[in-house]
Amino acid sequence: MNIIFLGAPGAGKGTQAQIVEKKYKIVQISTGDILRSAVKAGTPLGLEAKGFMDKGALVPDAVVIGLIKDRIAMDDCRNGFILDGFPRTTDQALALDKILAQNSMSIDHVVNIDVPQNELVQRLLKRAEIEGRSDDNLDSIKNRLVVFEEKTKPLIDYYKKNGKLRNINGLGSVDEITGAIEQVIK
Ligand code: AMP
Repeated sequence: MNIIFLGAPGAGKGTQAQIVEKKYKIVQISTGDILRSAVKAGTPLGLEAKGFMDKGALVPDAVVIGLIKDRIAMDDCRNGFILDGFPRTTDQALALDKILAQNSMSIDHVVNIDVPQNELVQRLLKRAEIEGRSDDNLDSIKNRLVVFEEKTKPLIDYYKKNGKLRNINGLGSVDEITGAIEQVIK
């Protein structure tokens, strides 16, 4: 089973992807985590990505598409995967379709976790206190939400058209939201 988790920053994609990864034995692929590791390790990829991430801007499409292309071709993806934080632009979604076709794969479900904007800001500010992510400051948060509205939200329509979209209310306890996700992916 191959799944995409769509949703704004703070919607709970990462939390839910980790739960689904364990329960269904399919791998979570988080472009944000891959990029954060690269920044921490000080690799050329990390050095390129850091400026964009700190501002709350998107890392260029070509960079993340390259990452996903290599990651999806790895053996552990054969059992299934959850894309968490990719695609985020229409060009990324188009590139993903090509990569999947090249690997004789397809997406089964696109789970859109919907959370109102004011709740997202509260959650991200709270996460800033707990995790200390360098992009969880108010300026960056505001920018990431604008980027989501402008660049990522159009993907909801893109996946609605191909019949893969499953909408989930992202307000509630972690367990409730996991339950709602399981209803649509089983
Ligand atoms: P996330 O952990 O998914 O919120 O991602 C953190 C940051 O990494 C984002 O604000 C972007 O700067 C960058 N990033 C993660 N995924 C992507 C993507 N698919 N396209 C472009 N930038 C991304």
